[in-house]
Amino acid sequence: MLEDKNQEKTSLEELGEFGLIQHLTQNFEIQQSSTVKGIGDDAAVLYFSDKKVVVSTDMLVEGVHFDLSYMPLKHLGYKSVMVNLSDIYAMNAVATQITVSIAVSNRFPLEALEEFYAGVALAAKIYKVDLIGGDTTSSTKGMIISVTAIGEANEADITYRSGAKPNDLLVVSGDLGGAYCGLQVLEREKEVFKVNPNNQPDLSPYTYIIERQLKPESRKDVKGLLAKLEIQPTAMIDISDGLSSEILHICKASEVGCNLYEDKIPLDPTVISACEEFKIDSTLVALSGGEDYELLFTIDQKDFPKIKGNPHFSVIGHMTDHKEGAHLISRANTKIPITAQGWNSFT
Ligand code: ADP
Ligand code: MG
Repeated sequence: MLEDKNQEKTSLEELGEFGLIQHLTQNFEIQQSSTVKGIGDDAAVLYFSDKKVVVSTDMLVEGVHFDLSYMPLKHLGYKSVMVNLSDIYAMNAVATQITVSIAVSNRFPLEALEEFYAGVALAAKIYKVDLIGGDTTSSTKGMIISVTAIGEANEADITYRSGAKPNDLLVVSGDLGGAYCGLQVLEREKEVFKVNPNNQPDLSPYTYIIERQLKPESRKDVKGLLAKLEIQPTAMIDISDGLSSEILHICKASEVGCNLYEDKIPLDPTVISACEEFKIDSTLVALSGGEDYELLFTIDQKDFPKIKGNPHFSVIGHMTDHKEGAHLISRANTKIPITAQGWNSFT
């Protein structure tokens, strides 16, 4: 992707650090009233009046979190923002600002960073967050990205991992496993390409799952959907590592157990067919796949009629007493302990 020979390439040295920052950030507009001063001074200035402020940071390292051989830089910019906004939405808050810091080696020309920032800009526009700063530096090898997301919420709306009670219902937005299946397709095509670079694969049957991997969306809408249903979630977390590890986080923080029902886990038909093709178990993919950026939350049992049948949400289980532990109730009605098989960056 970086080797597009038809395009002129501009080395980063030609611009210098200040010219580069100016060039990359010139077209960003302020959309939030809480942004008093954005890019251009020693620090940004924010004002949140009576709201509480939530802050979250994530780092993405080339070769660990992304592979530029199939990840277009514009998508990477977009996804870097999504990954962080998802954490703000998981607090039941509204995302308002981001900072974006990048370190790149001299193999990246200006045009590559322009692509990356085009993705950042698209995400900022769609999700109405202001880019208010960051840092730009060089690396000896590869690309490193760090995004910080800032959000606001009324104190009463903020939802922690620790608020779940026994008998609360466990609910998930959207569907699971798509991002992992998309990654399997991309990894396979990468291997095919190595053998035969002229092969033009038909990836159209995989559009949904590839998009889930390369261009994930974060669930900005869930806060509003729940407010409209007059449901106050009791605990919430975003699904970055896979359903099983997120369930265990809620169980640990809330000191509760959980029964998760296998037949209730929402799967897109393309995920089911990809799992058949790759001969992997779709439940395992939902439990351990990760990167779906859906929201997992608990609600009081009395709210069940309000959420039942809602196309955005699936009730997938209920919380139990802590001493009962966390279990998957399989389709065959066996009780299997849930273990943290979530994606671990150190393995
Ligand atoms: P300083 O020397 O004070 O760290 P910089 O020259 O690094 O200042 O940054 C100047 C301004 O540009 C600051 O507002 C900073 O937040 C912003 N900035 C620097 N790098 C980036 C980036 N990659 N993306 C967005 N804003 C950036
Ligand atoms: Mg700086």
